[in-house]
Amino acid sequence: MQFDIITIFPEIFSSYFSESIIKRALKKNLIKIKIHNLRDFTQDKRKTVDDRPYGGGPGMILMLEPIVKAIKKIVKKKKRKIVVLSAKGKLFDQKMAKEFSKLDQLVLISGHYEGIDERIVENIADMEVSIGSYVLTGGEVPCMAIVDAVARLIPGVINEESLKEESFSEKNNIEYPQYTRPAVFDISKIKNFPIKSKKKYWKVPNVLLSGNHREIGEWKQSKR
Ligand code: SAM
Repeated sequence: MQFDIITIFPEIFSSYFSESIIKRALKKNLIKIKIHNLRDFTQDKRKTVDDRPYGGGPGMILMLEPIVKAIKKIVKKKKRKIVVLSAKGKLFDQKMAKEFSKLDQLVLISGHYEGIDERIVENIADMEVSIGSYVLTGGEVPCMAIVDAVARLIPGVINEESLKEESFSEKNNIEYPQYTRPAVFDISKIKNFPIKSKKKYWKVPNVLLSGNHREIGEWKQSKR
């Protein structure tokens, strides 16, 4: 699957996509991520990508022509979607991530400043997507969130068993609580710890140490 991100701040992505699971998925060629600098699709010397809004109002709006030119170059695959990131869009969730993971190409158009010329939404985009009811400075963080959530659903990117068990999977609403060693932790060992603890010993639920798989299974089910 190929992700294409159109942005005026291409540098923002390099660190996030060069670590951890996304890095491995790229290396194994399970996904491709192409970052397109909107300024490369301008024609003037100053590489202008924004202008003032018609009708007045604060801030600057990303102009449509560079986006149209970027889309002309980028869009290749048939099974694809073009998504504009927008606070007023449809709320992104695991179901949408799953749908996106079946595509061959996902083109994400990141806005900035006051947003983008609405004619992109009206004429090009398949949908507007929001990652939550709050306003961010730009669509770059939402693009990273979407690529991350979609990429991990692509076969081979992460262990299939992990996908079955985790929150918002088909089987569960939320994942059960998880613990690792030590089985008992004595908080009083940490001198001058700034938070007053309710208990001296922090213990893992006994059932998880029992080795009884039926009981462990029931406990996990009861915590979902
Ligand atoms: N004027 C816009 C409004 O009132 O909705 C806010 C523009 S915001 C400062 C700049 C860009 O950040 C948007 O064009 C969009 O691409 C992105 N953005 C901000 N919040 C977002 C969110 N919750 N989900 C997705 N994208 C968001």
